Amino acid sequence: MKSIYAKLIFGFLVTIIFSFSVTGYIAVRSNYSQIESNVQEELESTGDFVCGLIENVPDDKIDHTLQEYALSSENTVVCYSMDNGYHVYGKKSNAVSKEKIAEYFLKDNNDEKVYVNKHNILSYGHLRHIKNKDYYIFVQKDMSRDKNSFISSAVLILGCIFLSGSVVFLAVADIIVKPITRLTKATKELSKGNYNVRVDCVGTDELSRLNQGFNQMAQQLAKQDETRQKFISDVSHEFQTPLTSIQGFANILKEEDLPKEQREKYLDIILFNSKRLSTLAKNMLQLTLLDREEITLEMTTFSLVDQINRVISLQESQANQKDIEIVFEKPKKDIFIVGDEQRLEQVWTNILSNAIKYTNQNGLITIMIKKTSKEVELTFEDTGIGMSKEVISHIFERFYREDKARSVDGNGLGLAIVKSIVDLHHGQIDVLSTVDVGTTFIVKLPIEKESLKERLSFNKS
Ligand code: ATP
Ligand code: MG
Repeated sequence: MKSIYAKLIFGFLVTIIFSFSVTGYIAVRSNYSQIESNVQEELESTGDFVCGLIENVPDDKIDHTLQEYALSSENTVVCYSMDNGYHVYGKKSNAVSKEKIAEYFLKDNNDEKVYVNKHNILSYGHLRHIKNKDYYIFVQKDMSRDKNSFISSAVLILGCIFLSGSVVFLAVADIIVKPITRLTKATKELSKGNYNVRVDCVGTDELSRLNQGFNQMAQQLAKQDETRQKFISDVSHEFQTPLTSIQGFANILKEEDLPKEQREKYLDIILFNSKRLSTLAKNMLQLTLLDREEITLEMTTFSLVDQINRVISLQESQANQKDIEIVFEKPKKDIFIVGDEQRLEQVWTNILSNAIKYTNQNGLITIMIKKTSKEVELTFEDTGIGMSKEVISHIFERFYREDKARSVDGNGLGLAIVKSIVDLHHGQIDVLSTVDVGTTFIVKLPIEKESLKERLSFNKS
């Protein structure tokens, strides 16, 4: 049974057959006993009427009268008396025989009344003393007509219920099956890569919720596809620029009569671009690792002051080249935190290198650490080119670089890495900036050691 339609119809038929059989059985049972008791009553009064006829009609006319009565009432009347013998009036085929009367009354039955139901023929017999004679009078009625008429009306009613039920059922099945068919079609479209496909989801029933879920999934896939395509185009663009430069200068270097000075200059450019490519590949790999669901941080307790000092000393030469002063306002007491030392060092390195990159000659960078009972707050403040609100809303996106920043070397991955690492430490990063005034990056990390350890002991959730 392939289609849901067929399954529903099969289910409907099984339900109908089962419920009709049970209902029919119970109805027939109770109706037959009702018919039988009605016929019993009817036969008793018929018996009384027959007795009245025998009593009141002259003897020579009794036969004729009883025959007429039996035919018109469609009953069989049997009269037996020792003096007048055995007589049957009306339909003779099922009439109770003389022997049976003897069996019912004369042998071991002292009752004056008897009921016999045989093959749907109900017989009522009774003994009456009329005109100084004993009469055994039987009236018999064929109940099959009454029973058959009940069966035909029951069949008619059930048939009507079945037909009208089928019409309603098909309409309801259509209401259920159509949206499923539409959803199946849409799913096929989606699997072919058409992420713009959507289904109607009016209402709050299960199917509407399923459709809503489908639409959300399609939307998510469309977004992911867009991100993937953008990522591929960004990556190829980022690779293309240094590669083109390397190719171009390598070609020039082939010329033998190139002055030594120029040769060295071109070689430096080639080295610079290959270093850029290597950093790009390293950063991309780093981001892919951070994206992995199962990433675990290597948690240790370490001195934050020592770490910041290390980061500053590694970047000092770049800052000196632009006469930028780096001021580290050390806390009175050393601060120890629990975290992935190597990855957090990268966070501070990226933020500080940005501050140096995007601050002009003679600028100032101030680094501060503040500790509260719940968190450690690190502030990197520069007097650089600053950013507009629009730029700030994009800086954590991969490959995003403000146009102004393009004159400086970079791929736009540094802050994306920073954000991932801070998130993994359940921290928070905020940016305050004013164009041409400067920028402040504030990183907050939780320090409740136990809970931090606990939270970081399992994978990125
Ligand atoms: P990469 O870090 O990959 O070498 P990048 O520094 O350009 O390249 P991000 O560190 O991700 O990339 O920074 C994204 C963008 O945010 C920068 O291109 C720049 O436009 C802006 N930005 C970041 N830090 C600052 C800052 N301190 N002052 C002004 N603009 C900044
Ligand atoms: Mg950067």
